[in-house]
Amino acid sequence: MDETDISFFKDGLRLDGRKADQLRPVKIEVGVLARADGSCYIEMGGNKVIAAVYGPREVHPRHLQEATRAIVRYRYNMASFSVEDRKRPGPDRRSQELSKVSREALEPVILTSFFPRSVIDVFVEVLQADAGTRTAGINAAAVALADAGIPMKSMISSCAAGKVADTIILDPMKEEDNFGQADLPIAMTPNGDITLLQMDGGLTPDEFQRAVEMAMKGARDIYELQRDALVKKYSQMVEQPGREEVHVCD
Ligand code: ADP
Repeated sequence: MDETDISFFKDGLRLDGRKADQLRPVKIEVGVLARADGSCYIEMGGNKVIAAVYGPREVHPRHLQEATRAIVRYRYNMASFSVEDRKRPGPDRRSQELSKVSREALEPVILTSFFPRSVIDVFVEVLQADAGTRTAGINAAAVALADAGIPMKSMISSCAAGKVADTIILDPMKEEDNFGQADLPIAMTPNGDITLLQMDGGLTPDEFQRAVEMAMKGARDIYELQRDALVKKYSQMVEQPGREEVHVCD
């Protein structure tokens, strides 16, 4: 099957009923893992992703430590049950690439110089995949870093645009990603400083411009949801102070 076998639009709407410039539904939950320093669960359409942050903590192996700053490690992993056909477990070239670009998307906003000789570990587990797992992972990881109390210059928000049937679309789902003409994921700060820009497929300069603008608008909308999720968690904690009970033994 290729792109010409699929009808991507019906009555002007996409296969899942969205308009061209519409995001899939997003759900963000903060602090879902008790043993992590920070964590986040995110659903973006059919993607279900969890991020866990540990640190700053001692670096092992020690020869990796940097005298003037913390190092950041990012491990993107796709569960074998996250896709239709079982994915072979363990690291592969794709997960290595996604780990690298995702780390590079987040590192510019992390104040690593505050924590010399230490490491900040970010683990991203994809539980269910439906295209856009790198962007969902980056969004969850950025929230988990904030939840861990890691000092950051700003939030990072990530979203993709794509091209199907010669139309620029926001946040492609799997069919659009697999059989479409282009995929363009970005990550950025709320000010619009881009920290990730990748492109698969072909776009004219004008289409590229429109796709970047559309992805940036999507990332801005996701930023609002990330902020709301963090505010929700931490305002609840302020409203219910001293919930931990102290037991005194005679
Ligand atoms: P992203 O998930 O960031 O869009 P890709 O463009 O590489 O990254 O992958 C697009 C989608 O293709 C994934 O979200 C997933 O649904 C599917 N996919 C990726 N790798 C595999 C795999 N090994 N087996 C089955 N499906 C996969």
